[in-house]
Amino acid sequence: MREYLTTERLEPTKRLIVERTKDFGEIYEIFNRDDAAAQSERCIQCGDPFCLNKCPLHNYIPQWLKAISEKDLEFAFKLSNEPSPFPEVMGRVCPHDRLCEGDCTLNDGHGAITIGSVETHITEEGFKAGFKPEFPGITVNKKVAVIGSGPAGLSVATYLLRSGIGVTMYESSDRAGGLLTYGIPNFKLDKKIVERRVKLLEDGGLELVLNCKVGENISFEEVADSHDAMFIGIGATKPKSAGLAGEQAANVYDAMDYLTAIGKKNFKTDYDKKFDFKDLNIVVIGGGDTAMDCLRTAKREGARSVTCLYRRDAYNMPGSKKEYKNAMEEGVDFTFFASPKEIVLDESGSAIAVEVVKTTLGAKDKSGRQRMEEIKGSEFRVNADVVIMSLGFDPLVPSFLAENGIETNSWGGIIIDEESHETTTAGIYAGGDCYRGADLVVTAAYDGREAARSIANSLLK
Ligand SMILES: Cc1cc2nc3c(=O)[nH]c(=O)nc-3n(C[C@H](O)[C@H](O)[C@H](O)COP(=O)(O)OP(=O)(O)OC[C@H]3O[C@@H](n4cnc5c(N)ncnc54)[C@H](O)[C@@H]3O)c2cc1C
Ligand code: SF4
Repeated sequence: MREYLTTERLEPTKRLIVERTKDFGEIYEIFNRDDAAAQSERCIQCGDPFCLNKCPLHNYIPQWLKAISEKDLEFAFKLSNEPSPFPEVMGRVCPHDRLCEGDCTLNDGHGAITIGSVETHITEEGFKAGFKPEFPGITVNKKVAVIGSGPAGLSVATYLLRSGIGVTMYESSDRAGGLLTYGIPNFKLDKKIVERRVKLLEDGGLELVLNCKVGENISFEEVADSHDAMFIGIGATKPKSAGLAGEQAANVYDAMDYLTAIGKKNFKTDYDKKFDFKDLNIVVIGGGDTAMDCLRTAKREGARSVTCLYRRDAYNMPGSKKEYKNAMEEGVDFTFFASPKEIVLDESGSAIAVEVVKTTLGAKDKSGRQRMEEIKGSEFRVNADVVIMSLGFDPLVPSFLAENGIETNSWGGIIIDEESHETTTAGIYAGGDCYRGADLVVTAAYDGREAARSIANSLLK
């Protein structure tokens, strides 16, 4: 119980920068059994564990830390895989510093428990030892349609299949996983990890229909009529625009188009070669996690220079500090206090630079955040062969929503009952980014789990 006084917090080893920037392999190694046990022993087993309360899934963190400290991998695997549909994914991609680890009691100078890394260790080692999440097979004469195979869709499918309810999942892309597959780069999440979970679901009875966009390849009504309930998990991947002059140039790209193309390249499938940025000067506009992913991807793709333009400073960047640090280590250039005003084009209409104005932070606004003020006459240019826009995303709002009475709010988010996850149309549920706006894997997983609980309650009563 007092091991935290003698054992320091240990981060998993990162691959050497010179090696990791040459390929798309994950940069963090997975804890071995001794390190996982030693780190878990640091947990003081708080009576009211803040980590658990801050985890959107309310994972049984102190319990599985105790099991690992006692080297009971099987029990830890069961505990970890019960409230979480894919703990080894969340262990890798959750912004731990803002969630469980941020609220760990030891995060007061002693160093929080490395919760995410132990979480990854448990399921990876568990799979190696032959443990598997259990599915009973389809035992109920009911079937649910899931639109979208991102973390929200995979999560709802996991919990419905665990209740013995059949699931048909429709996915417009050629692979399942949503942004876990085409979005989050391989150096943060190896795609084999996602494929393994999809395979487990298929073995558990999931019927997966790929390359099938609901509303185009099959009508929403046809899907609704052939199922007892539906879950919509179509994400929020419509890029926000900065409204800059020159943004329409052919060499100005959206972040998602770039990451998807390189994702396909890494799968060794056909991709658009215009996204080969070797030896080019890349400028990314935006300071969130998606911007970091584009910058680090371009670095690995052999870009000559990779520059991030952000209006505020590093402290105010919206993304994870860990990802910013990783990008810095990998040689990304950051130009802070630089607000883009225009994309400068040459006579042929190609982008050649971004015109920016310097900024400074002024008085605080109502939310307590310092206002950004532009410094008149401080304009300068940053040369670019390619500009990538990474300013966030809005939900997709397909016409089938309104046509079927599924209401959305002012920014396009699907309106649901927060308790049941049911939309304004009975029997149709929703969750993940299409309800929250662009958010996190773990919150999408939570929505899927909670929606599955409501659907099962309604179908099995
Ligand atoms: C580049 C990037 C990096 C990120 N990194 C992180 C991270 O490190 N950690 C983290 O927690 N979060 C991260 N996120 C956010 C996280 O990925 C999302 O919050 C999460 O994936 C949302 O899950 P979802 O299931 O709601 O939607 P999505 O993952 O977007 O999945 C929606 C799926 O629905 C499919 N679909 C859409 N319309 C239809 C239709 N009509 N018919 C059939 N299928 C359809 C789409 O093809 C897609 O596969 C990142 C996001 C991006 C863009
Ligand atoms: S799911 Fe995320 S927040 Fe919850 S314990 Fe795992 S890493 Fe922490």
